[in-house]
Amino acid sequence: MFQKKAAHKTQGKNIKKEFTFRFYAELNDFLSPERKQKPFMQAFKTPISVRETLESIGIPLSEVDMILVNEKAVDFGYQLRENDFISVYPVFESLDITPVTKARKTPLRDPRFVLDAHLGKLAKYLRMLGFDTLYRPDIDDDEIISVSKKEQRIILTRDKLLLKSKEVSHGYFVRAIDKHEQLNEVIKKFDLFSKFNSFTRCMTCNAELIPKKKEEIAGKINPETALFFNEFYYCPHCDKVFWKGSHFERMEKLILSLIK
Ligand SMILES: [Zn+2]
Repeated sequence: MFQKKAAHKTQGKNIKKEFTFRFYAELNDFLSPERKQKPFMQAFKTPISVRETLESIGIPLSEVDMILVNEKAVDFGYQLRENDFISVYPVFESLDITPVTKARKTPLRDPRFVLDAHLGKLAKYLRMLGFDTLYRPDIDDDEIISVSKKEQRIILTRDKLLLKSKEVSHGYFVRAIDKHEQLNEVIKKFDLFSKFNSFTRCMTCNAELIPKKKEEIAGKINPETALFFNEFYYCPHCDKVFWKGSHFERMEKLILSLIK
């Protein structure tokens, strides 16, 4: 009698149960081809939280914003029950979703970024558009994660492993390889169109530029430049003066092409 009861108890634990998963939109990028864009079943030893199943399937939690189990919103800690149907949606920074339905409690509305060492060109473009963008070619993963947490910065990376770290709460895997496409992708993803504030930030160092009058920077530019231009911007960190020359026009064209 006693033995039977004990046996029954162990049976209840570590039993494999089947669940159905369906991943939406860009979360499919992390799935093998036969699992993309459709429901699939997978068995897991129970008890298990939805968080553990997502990690095991290979989905970075930082890219997940909403989880529905049998059409009800749950958080990462939800313990799965047999035959649960789990629908998983990506980060909806760009869409309005009522806060109660979100897996994450505080969305990052203030778009500030920290980029991995491979995204130097993208960093320059984001700064050009006025976005606070931390980037250094020698930055390592630990530093990226700690600065993201401390300063509430969204991590942009080409490294899927980095996003799988449990410490990362706001991160995005940049799919595009080309620098212009990367910029386009990030702008769309985070719905940045209305937040452009071009030429307010130094593309080299990320410091905010200070508008200067011609006479204030007379010693720092050559007389010909002073003749043809009237608006100047000073970077206190680089000790450099910028003006809206041909480089500016090229950049402006690029921005306009993005907005289209
Ligand atoms: Zn600078």
